Amino acid sequence: MKHILLLTAFFLLSLTVFAQRPAAQSPRPKLVVGLVIDQMRWDYLYRYNDRYGNDGFKRLMRDGFNCQNTMISYLPSFTAPGHTCVYTGSVPSIHGIAANDWIDNRTGKAWYCTEDPEVAPVGGSRRAGMMSPRNLLATTVTDELRLATNMKSRVFGISLKDRSSILPAGHLANGAFWFDDSTGNFITSTYYSSTLPAWVTAFNNRHLPDSFLSKGWTLLEPENKYTHSLPDNNPYEGKFAGEAAPVFPHDKLGHDYNTLRKIPAGNGITLMLAETCLENEKLGQQDATDFLCVSLSATDYAGHQFAPNALEMEDMYLRLDRQLAEFLHFLDSKIGAGNYTLFLTADHGGAHNSNYLESLKIPAGNVSEGGALKELNQGLAQELGADSLVRALDNYQVTLNEKKIASSGIDRDKIKKLIVRWLQARPEVAYVADMEHFENAVVPEPIRTMMVNGYNRNRSGCIQIIFQPGWYNGYGPTGTTHGTWNPYDTHIPLLWYGWHVPKGETYGTVYMTDIAATVAALLHIQMPGGCVGKVITDIVK
Ligand SMILES: [Zn+2]
Repeated sequence: MKHILLLTAFFLLSLTVFAQRPAAQSPRPKLVVGLVIDQMRWDYLYRYNDRYGNDGFKRLMRDGFNCQNTMISYLPSFTAPGHTCVYTGSVPSIHGIAANDWIDNRTGKAWYCTEDPEVAPVGGSRRAGMMSPRNLLATTVTDELRLATNMKSRVFGISLKDRSSILPAGHLANGAFWFDDSTGNFITSTYYSSTLPAWVTAFNNRHLPDSFLSKGWTLLEPENKYTHSLPDNNPYEGKFAGEAAPVFPHDKLGHDYNTLRKIPAGNGITLMLAETCLENEKLGQQDATDFLCVSLSATDYAGHQFAPNALEMEDMYLRLDRQLAEFLHFLDSKIGAGNYTLFLTADHGGAHNSNYLESLKIPAGNVSEGGALKELNQGLAQELGADSLVRALDNYQVTLNEKKIASSGIDRDKIKKLIVRWLQARPEVAYVADMEHFENAVVPEPIRTMMVNGYNRNRSGCIQIIFQPGWYNGYGPTGTTHGTWNPYDTHIPLLWYGWHVPKGETYGTVYMTDIAATVAALLHIQMPGGCVGKVITDIVK
């Protein structure tokens, strides 16, 4: 009895002691910065490594954690699905951002990923401003942070591209800003706010795009130091409008604001706006963790125009390395080194120019999906006596003209079988699968899983096409693109740095879907609603 009394007293005492302790705070950094480099192939960390300084990419690689084998696990490997996957930890089948553009199979309406007819532009033109995250069907890790902190955390998205600003910042963003080509201003939409914040207006009033375009684009260092690229004038690069040849100096860029997207200053102005946002919104200065999502798009536009072997790409990455060093220095001075967590990744990679590969006797090629669509419809018309049975050949997918098929009375499965057979006979095609009967498709891993993950019943074409390695759709003889399953498109960099990130690296395969799961674990918040990724446990030690 005595013992029981003693134990009871001890138990009550313990309760009192514990009750008097302050509620445990889940430790979190002051700020998380997500940095997506559009079209950055993993190998760019190493291709230009000897030319990088110590404070940019090399600082993250030296003092942070490098996930060397980070792969995309769905198709197509485009910008909107990429940014969405990074921040939702989910795949198009679930999060709904099935491509940059798609056709809704239920209504037949063609959609742009962030198009929203219900909202109005704020600060910019109608076409550029009717945007929101409304088509995104899952939460982002940024949404989860806001939910977890009872909205005390603040989230901002910044990019030249609307989709790269809006999708990362999620449904609950405090602000998302993107570039309007028709005015040269950064804008938003009424989804977020009815007016532009004063600091964005003040930034726009500096008219930086005009001065950047007037300044042009010259090489950062003497030309003989650019040893990782083909000669400046090579047949695989596209030209700027009005140029006689695709060569430096690019000093007659004109004043089309769209050109700003393709030059290093496009990344520079994005980082300047990110810094202005951080200062004016006082991010990282409060109790709750804030989140800044920055996406740099100039690497992508330039990649499409010049392809990976151009002096322009080497210079773009040298300048990006310096811009990154300055940005990290800015974060150190404002937030304090060690008080922020940063991850750097890409939304997809990019192929070598197919003509360049062919010149080296590597199997490759490029085809026009538009041309193939015409031929396919002609072939079907000859066989079945009905025109325009296929509506679109886009995103490496076939979308049927459902209305036309219904009115023609022709058996839908018969049409699909003919399409599959027609596509399989083409030289660029490796596999074709009817996604409505995918169980029968003989396609090897990891392509098979990538096809399933990428197939959204309402927003994807019902037939998916896998090209032979080295082949891609479009872009003619110059430049390059992305979108396929191949490692050059789907092997992306992933660097972690800062608060609670150990130094190190892993060559174990991790996936783009693991990024959001890992951020959620670091922050002790719920994983996003559609997350299928796993926590990268090397980071969360
Ligand atoms: Zn992209």
